[in-house]
Amino acid sequence: MTRVIRANFVESIVGVMRHETKHFGRAVSAEGVMYILHSCECVRTGIDPRECAYSVALDLSIDPRLWAHQQDCVVVLAICPDEGDLIPQLAEIREEDSLS
Ligand SMILES: [Zn+2]
Repeated sequence: MTRVIRANFVESIVGVMRHETKHFGRAVSAEGVMYILHSCECVRTGIDPRECAYSVALDLSIDPRLWAHQQDCVVVLAICPDEGDLIPQLAEIREEDSLS
């Protein structure tokens, strides 16, 4: 089940600033928790973040095989067109998006 956490806390965990259109995430293996940093666009809609399509996809399940090599690093999130679950989109994280 997803929980709502303060935005700047999530930014510091995920390691990037909130992006205009992309949802970023980080699977923290030590906690067994997936953190989602919602896009500016998503936040502006005013919906409850737990009802965002990405949160719903996360609640569905995540495929451990797809995430095995994507833990503890920042990833662009995507929703699997077939299964509807949360998957890592293999895209470069731009330097200017990074907090470090
Ligand atoms: Zn969202």
